[in-house]
Amino acid sequence: MGFLREWRRRRTLKSARLDETLWKKVAAKLSFLRGLSNEDTARLKQLVVLFLAEKEMHGAQGLTLTDEVRLSIAAQACLPVLNLGLDVYHGWVGVIVYPGEFRVRKEEVDENGVVHTFEEELAGEAWPGGPVVLSWEDVSLSERGYNVVIHEFAHKIHMDGGGDENYPAARKDMDAAKWRRTLEEAYNRFCGEVDSGEATFIDPYAAEHPAEFFAVMSEAFFTESAVLARDWPELYAQLALFYRQDPAGKAGGS
Ligand SMILES: [Zn+2]
Repeated sequence: MGFLREWRRRRTLKSARLDETLWKKVAAKLSFLRGLSNEDTARLKQLVVLFLAEKEMHGAQGLTLTDEVRLSIAAQACLPVLNLGLDVYHGWVGVIVYPGEFRVRKEEVDENGVVHTFEEELAGEAWPGGPVVLSWEDVSLSERGYNVVIHEFAHKIHMDGGGDENYPAARKDMDAAKWRRTLEEAYNRFCGEVDSGEATFIDPYAAEHPAEFFAVMSEAFFTESAVLARDWPELYAQLALFYRQDPAGKAGGS
């Protein structure tokens, strides 16, 4: 399996061409890509070519996906796995893109065993071993610190990569206890700040659940790295080890 996949990827990279003009247009809107070195940018483009070849993107509710939309989503989805490799996204193929927020039917069982059905408006959703669903309106509204693509793909990295429902497992070369402790302490501190009404540059939605905290902090790690490194240095250092990237150039420092 591994050999075949490698062979197929080499062949894809030989035959597929990335549209450089379109890349420039897409990258100009994703300011956080500017911090990448030329070498990293070249590797990101390779991952994007493979991502587009291996994943299937579909527009829902009549949305036509232009090459620009595909390229933009692929670039943001590949950034978190730049140094982890595309195999992190192995085992599923679908990316579904709605024009705007989409309604999802949810069921919840309460403590009395009663099933409650309700509808929710979502900007994005990720299924374990299944597709990633995105609202294009929300993708295009991305600003520093808020990025729905990175958010949902962080959930994929978490769900499909081991760990528990709260946090992903540490990488093999990391101190697993320190990773866990740092996330838990940061989550508790963050919930305390939200409860006390303190203004925080991190989306308060991160207080909903530890898994949401990880996804929201991943958005900040890639799109507002300097602020995260300044305000949450221990968490930043652990995320740098987890993603094997140092977007703020701080991991080697104090
Ligand atoms: Zn989420």
